[in-house]
Amino acid sequence: MAGQVADVIVVGAGNAAFCAALAAQEIGARVLMLEAAPEQESGGNSRFTAGSIRVVYNGIDDIRTLVPDLTPAEIDGTDFGAYTAAQFFDDMARVTQSRADADLVELLVSKSFATLNWMRGKGVRFIPIYGRQAFKIDGKFTFWGGLTVEAVGGGPGLVAMLTAAAQQRGVALRYRARALDLLYDGNRVEGVRVRQDGAVRELRAPSVVLACGGFEANPEWRTRYLGPGWDLARVRGSRYNTGDGIRMALAIGASPCGNWSGCHAVQWEMNAPEFGDLAVGDQFQKHSYPFGILINADGRRFVDEGADFRNYTYAKYGRVVLEQPGQFAWQVFDRKVKHLLRDEYKIRQVTKVTANTIDEFAQKLEGVNAAGFIRTVKEWNAAVRSDIPFNPNIKDGRRTQGLVPDKSNWANTIDTPPFEGYAVTCGITFTFGGLRINADAAVLNTDYRPIPGLYAAGELVGGLFYFNYPGGTGLMSGAVFGRIAGAAAARQAIPDLKSGAERSAGERRNHE
Ligand SMILES: Cc1cc2nc3c(=O)[nH]c(=O)nc-3n(C[C@H](O)[C@H](O)[C@H](O)COP(=O)(O)OP(=O)(O)OC[C@H]3O[C@@H](n4cnc5c(N)ncnc54)[C@H](O)[C@@H]3O)c2cc1C
Repeated sequence: MAGQVADVIVVGAGNAAFCAALAAQEIGARVLMLEAAPEQESGGNSRFTAGSIRVVYNGIDDIRTLVPDLTPAEIDGTDFGAYTAAQFFDDMARVTQSRADADLVELLVSKSFATLNWMRGKGVRFIPIYGRQAFKIDGKFTFWGGLTVEAVGGGPGLVAMLTAAAQQRGVALRYRARALDLLYDGNRVEGVRVRQDGAVRELRAPSVVLACGGFEANPEWRTRYLGPGWDLARVRGSRYNTGDGIRMALAIGASPCGNWSGCHAVQWEMNAPEFGDLAVGDQFQKHSYPFGILINADGRRFVDEGADFRNYTYAKYGRVVLEQPGQFAWQVFDRKVKHLLRDEYKIRQVTKVTANTIDEFAQKLEGVNAAGFIRTVKEWNAAVRSDIPFNPNIKDGRRTQGLVPDKSNWANTIDTPPFEGYAVTCGITFTFGGLRINADAAVLNTDYRPIPGLYAAGELVGGLFYFNYPGGTGLMSGAVFGRIAGAAAARQAIPDLKSGAERSAGERRNHE
């Protein structure tokens, strides 16, 4: 190809993009990554994460493969249980109301463990998520909810390890390089048009992998596709994910796919800024609501806070808060559960009130009808089934009876001061609608045929998530489909490649 700058161009520099770049490089392709953000803001939403990754494992031996430096004390003091392929399938089907694309889910689940091991081989290290995903009861940590490991150093650690892995292997990475359009001859993709340092250039390559996120940071698209009110949501992560990859692909005839009116959105600090702040990361989230109650401006509860483990409800409750008057809610706890609150409740940037009596507390909940709140607490305390034992490690069935809505698990009376309230609004994480891909992560056109030279991975792939999402699946999906996309893109760019490291280092040409 005349003027070819690389075999594979990867658009983006988050988790999916790095996995694609590393997979393409591994089989001999020269890879160029283009990242819209400057280096200090790069890494996309992946950098904002806790680095928690949902992976299939069949017991302690699999965990030891992923975390070889577990100490004997950690092994003795922990019940890791298992998270089987059947459970992962089940979770995807349940939370997406069986809408998730079966072929994509099959790949996601069946390749999850091998993909994490592959990442380990590239230098990414993992540790168990003690504290947030396992509570210590009677001297033992017990994991629940299918989410057991995270990258060392969370999202920033993950991006740093992936960046180092890519750079050590000769992957070229340009920051402040925003891809604008695909170069397309009417049949195949031949590169991208990019703006870097104020200049627009055409960069040619036989394969392009789009891994540049969803449209969560674009208020106009949010309102257009998610609906009225979504312009008012805060963005939890990167301000660079404005739907460019989806737009560029649709412009050359790609097929849209998935839940375009759906997204992942959580309860998020009421006074958080418009976009994520890397100094705070994901700590604006407030995810201990299963142990308290949620109150709206009318002083009423409006959702079953304990419907399931937080991993299976948090991603849909942001929408529920957005639908409340004024788009806010207060999370309310008393002293009995304070020790269960996650670290994110202890940061400086919280909107928090405390009081020693319910009357005083009610006056302090800004924007809330105090009389309505006092009535709600009275009814709540009378409805808690205190005869059922409380246990945060299991769905304990300790419920309320006779309320609308009832709470299904972890119900505790609100009667032991000090009382604490935390104000939250809706924070959008990422959008669910995107591009249609096949099992090679090739982007399909509206005739459902692969567009030669175009691949996609990560948030901008549609068809996996509908309505809701099991925690930790975003990174796993980016890793699995990034790896597939990178390998397929390399094979199509260099047709004589078979498998493995076919092209020796000496044969690799320099970039440009
Ligand atoms: C606060 C927060 C916490 C989260 N916690 C978790 C978690 O613990 N576990 C989990 O699995 N998921 C989590 N998620 C979801 C997870 O971040 C995403 O699912 C995942 O990181 C998406 O990876 P990606 O590579 O597709 O996109 P990103 O990591 O967002 O990368 C996209 C990249 O593309 C770049 N880009 C955008 N447009 C262009 C363009 N035109 N040209 C060039 N580059 C462009 C962006 O700058 C960005 O670097 C969290 C998300 C947030 C916001």
